[in-house]
Amino acid sequence: MKYYSLNDPEAKAETSFRDATIRGQAPDKGLYFPERIPALPKDLIENITRYTKEEIALRVISPYVGDTLPAGELEKIVAETVNFEFPLVKLDDRTWSLELFHGPTLAFKDVGARFMSRCLGYFVRGNDQPVTVLVATSGDTGGAVANGFYGVEGVRVVILYPSGKVSSVQELQLTTLGKNITALEVDGTFDDCQRLVKQAFGDPGLNKELFLTSANSINVARWLPQQFYYLFAYSQWVQTLGKKEAPVWSVPSGNFGNICAGLLAHRSGMPAKHFIAACNANNTIPDFLQTGAYKPRKAVPTISNAMDVGDPSNFVRILEIFHKEFTALSNVLSSSSTTDEQTRVAIRKVYTEAHYLPDPHGAVGWLALQDYLSSHPGDRGIFLETAHPVKFYDVVEPIIGEKVPMPPIVQNLLGRKKQSEKISPDFGLLRDFLRGEKRK
Ligand SMILES: *Cc1c(COP(=O)(O)O)cnc(C)c1O
Repeated sequence: MKYYSLNDPEAKAETSFRDATIRGQAPDKGLYFPERIPALPKDLIENITRYTKEEIALRVISPYVGDTLPAGELEKIVAETVNFEFPLVKLDDRTWSLELFHGPTLAFKDVGARFMSRCLGYFVRGNDQPVTVLVATSGDTGGAVANGFYGVEGVRVVILYPSGKVSSVQELQLTTLGKNITALEVDGTFDDCQRLVKQAFGDPGLNKELFLTSANSINVARWLPQQFYYLFAYSQWVQTLGKKEAPVWSVPSGNFGNICAGLLAHRSGMPAKHFIAACNANNTIPDFLQTGAYKPRKAVPTISNAMDVGDPSNFVRILEIFHKEFTALSNVLSSSSTTDEQTRVAIRKVYTEAHYLPDPHGAVGWLALQDYLSSHPGDRGIFLETAHPVKFYDVVEPIIGEKVPMPPIVQNLLGRKKQSEKISPDFGLLRDFLRGEKRK
């Protein structure tokens, strides 16, 4: 399998999975896209309950990786990527929650980050110079990336996060690892962090001196493995219902990588009745699907902060999956926008009526699914619960008026000491810092 840049669809697909993973973005700044969408083996879909997680994941990802990883290595990477639970939990006769928060940093991003870090670790093995992964985070990405790369030989990670704008659990996940992970606490916003990272990648001198790469969600090695858990969920769904029914999928969406992976899996043969991109007040895509006009805007802050994106990068990949045919796209995908107040009401309602505590992102997904089901009486569906509610206990506890029980993994974090370097949002300072790190 080869990849091409979406900025240049005329170009031949000539980039390997290896190079696409190392580079992140194409040199023309476009996103990489596979030259073809492989079909999943028929038997896998027909008899999915007979397959293990590892077998499903391996069959999904193999065509995309091709021969850039030896078979044994890929098997090992896949097994390590999915070595936790992905439970499908029933809330009522029409609604299921796919819990994607049982990984080490309690959010779905663990899957992509674990897979990517191990692939990159393999690809740079034997390099005489360490790679520096530079990443800006609004919250969950940083923790997942830090955890995924922790202790990986030949890779250093520098994370930029906006001071005071991530939840306390998220901050501890970023700042308490040490070893090859460094956190920079930027006195500014997420946009400042992202601008600094972009400036670093755009600085030829710095790139030459340090082998810089990104672990951003547009990297194919983070995007593609997100297909796995849709199939894990489908397997459990068939098992519970005792029949093969296509579910409605509701996906809390920000940068649209997660839902794009679901749509890709669907294109490859995974059953789906419909997809809903559940957004918060950042409604660029809901508006686009209503009007046909794409108008990016500045992100507005909400209580589901991991979805505060005004110009979702992965949306161009969704357009590519549907060959930019608007009608084909809007038959499969709809999108809704939810206010913080509606999200709070939803959290309270699910908690009191179904005795289930969703996090703010999952609650946006739940609400979008209920709206859809109310006008589609015969359907049932799954919403993706993308993070553990404890990650946002500062938001959730006042809504339900109770403490959220701390899992041991979080209790352990709360006892640790934050280690970060404060910097003001100035590229000169970042450059000096990165150069200084190299000399260490
Ligand atoms: C990143 C994130 C999202 C949004 O996922 P995208 O792939 O960017 O659409 C939703 N929920 C949580 C908890 C996240 O961390």
